Amino acid sequence: IKQYQGLAGRSTNEVLQLYSARGHQQRSYVLTQLHGAIKKRLKQDLKSLHSFALELSKDFQRQSKTYLYQVLTAVQGIQMQNEAMQMFQIKAFDLEQTLQEVTERYEKEKQKRRALHNSLIELRGNIRVHCRIRPLLPFDAAGHSLSQDGQRNFSEKVTYAADDETVLVKCSRPGHASINKTFQFERVYNASESQDTVFADVAPLLTSLLDGYNVCIMAYGQTGSGKTYTMLGPQLEENTPYSTENESELGIIPRATQEVFRLISEKPPGSYWIEVSVVEVYNNEIFDLLAKDSCGKVFGVKRDVVTTKEGKRDVPLLMYETVENASEFLHLVKKGLQLRVRHPTLVHAHSSRSHLVVTLTITTVVSGDNLAGISWEDEQTSQRLKKEISWTFPQKMRENTSTSSSRASSPAHLEATEKIKQVKTRLQLVDLAGSECVGMSGVTGAALRETSFINRSLSALADVLGAIAEQRPHVPYRNSKLTHLLQDSIGGDAKLLVMLCISPGQKYLTESMQSLGFGTRARQVQRGQVKKRNCPLPSKAK
Ligand code: ADP
Ligand code: MG
Repeated sequence: IKQYQGLAGRSTNEVLQLYSARGHQQRSYVLTQLHGAIKKRLKQDLKSLHSFALELSKDFQRQSKTYLYQVLTAVQGIQMQNEAMQMFQIKAFDLEQTLQEVTERYEKEKQKRRALHNSLIELRGNIRVHCRIRPLLPFDAAGHSLSQDGQRNFSEKVTYAADDETVLVKCSRPGHASINKTFQFERVYNASESQDTVFADVAPLLTSLLDGYNVCIMAYGQTGSGKTYTMLGPQLEENTPYSTENESELGIIPRATQEVFRLISEKPPGSYWIEVSVVEVYNNEIFDLLAKDSCGKVFGVKRDVVTTKEGKRDVPLLMYETVENASEFLHLVKKGLQLRVRHPTLVHAHSSRSHLVVTLTITTVVSGDNLAGISWEDEQTSQRLKKEISWTFPQKMRENTSTSSSRASSPAHLEATEKIKQVKTRLQLVDLAGSECVGMSGVTGAALRETSFINRSLSALADVLGAIAEQRPHVPYRNSKLTHLLQDSIGGDAKLLVMLCISPGQKYLTESMQSLGFGTRARQVQRGQVKKRNCPLPSKAK
C-alpha cells in the first residue's frame, strides 16, 4: 500500500508538474497513462495474492489431512494394543492352568520315576560289582631287568577288558599252566576309560540316595591298582595339596559330593543338610580323622561303633561336620587325609595299610504330620517312613523289650525322631586297604599284625557279602569293625557298588586273580538278592 501511496505521490507531483507545464491535451494523456499503469500493477498484485491464498488453503488442507491420518493411525494402534493385551491375558490364564496341570502331572511322574529308578537299581542288583583295569605304568617295570630271562615278561599285560562286561586273564609262562579265564561283571572299564566315564555309572546311585536309600561305594584291590586314584583322584592322594585345577581327574568321592549338592539344590531350600565324618579303620580300630581336642587341634582319636536301640549303627562321639558345598567337603577330607599320614599314633606310613571311610549323612526335614510331604511322595518310601516312626517310638517307650529285630521289616536305615521329624540317609565311600596281604606270608612284627588285621577285615567283608548272597538268617557284620561300621549301607535295601581295581601286569597275576575271585563271589549276592518288591526278606541283622 505504501508503495502505491509513494507511486501515487510521485505521480501527483509529476502530474502537477506536467499539468502546469503542458497543455490540456498532453495532461490528460499523462493521466490516462498513469491510470493504466496503476491499474495493471494492481491487477497483477491481486492475481498473485489470489494464487497465494489458494496455495495457502491447499497447504492447510494437505497438512490437516496428514495430521488426521496420524491421529487415526494412533487410535488404531491403541485399539490393537488393547486387543493384544486382552489376548495376552487370556493366554496367561491358559498358561497358568496348563502349568498347574503340568505341575500335577510332574508330581505324579516324579513318583513314578522314583519307583522305576529303584526297580532299575534293584534289577541291576543291590550289590553290583564293576571292575577297572588301570593302564600299565612306568613303575610296573621297575626293579626288573628286562634282559633277565624269565623276568622278561614280568611287566607284560595279562589282564584285559575283553568288552565292557568281561575281564579276560590270559597268560602262558614257561613252567606254569597257562591261564585263559574270563570274569563277568556289571561293568568293566579298560585302561583308557576316564574318571568321567567311571563316575557316570556311579551317579544313578546318588539319585537312590536322595530317594531314601543308603549307598556304599567301595574300592577293592591290591596296593597300586588304582583304588585311591579311582576314589579320590591323583590330587587328593596322600599329602599332595588338593587343587581344583584339574577337575577332569577328580575321583568318585569329590564328584559324588558335587552331585549330591547338585541334586539337593533342586529341592526346596533348607529341607536338607549334609554332615561329614572321616574315619580310618586300622588294626580293627576306628580312628576319627576329624576329631578335635580342647585347643581345637585335630588328632586321630579312637572311636567305637555300636548298634543303637533302634537297630542303627552309630559311632558315639564321632565328629560330624556340617558342610554347605563340595569345596568345604574336600577341604575337610584333605585335612583328614593329612592326619592319616602324619599322626604318630597311626604307626603305619602307608595309606594302603588302612581302610578309609568317608561318610556323608543327609538329613531330610519331613514336614509335621504329612510324611508324604516334601520329597517323599513315593508311596513306598512314605510307607516305610511311617513304619519307621511307628516302629521306633513304641520301642523307645518299652525300654526293656528286645530290640534286636527292629530292622526286620524296615529295610532302609532311615531315622526319624518324634520331636523333629528328620530322615537320615547315608553315603559311605570306602578306600579299602590293599588286598595283597590276603595269603601273604613271611612277615613279622608290626607288619605281621597289620597284615593279619587287614586279612581278617577283608575276609570278614567277603563273609558278610557271602552270607547276604545265600540269604542266611545271620550275617556276621560284627566280626570286624569295618563290616559293623558299613552294615547299614551294605545290608537291607541299601545299594552297594564294589569297584574292583586291577593292575594289568603279569607280576600282579596272583593278586588280580584273587581280586577277581572276590568280586565274582560278591556278585553272586545280586543273583540271590533279586526279590519281589513289598515282600521283605527275613532279618539280616544280628
Ligand atoms: P592304590 O590306592 O590302589 O594303592 P593308587 O590309586 O595310588 O593305587 O594308584 C597307583 C598309581 O597308579 C598312582 O600313581 C596313580 O596315579 C596311578 N593310576 C591308577 N589308576 C590309574 C588310571 N586309571 N589312569 C592313570 N593312572 C592311574
Ligand atoms: Mg591307595
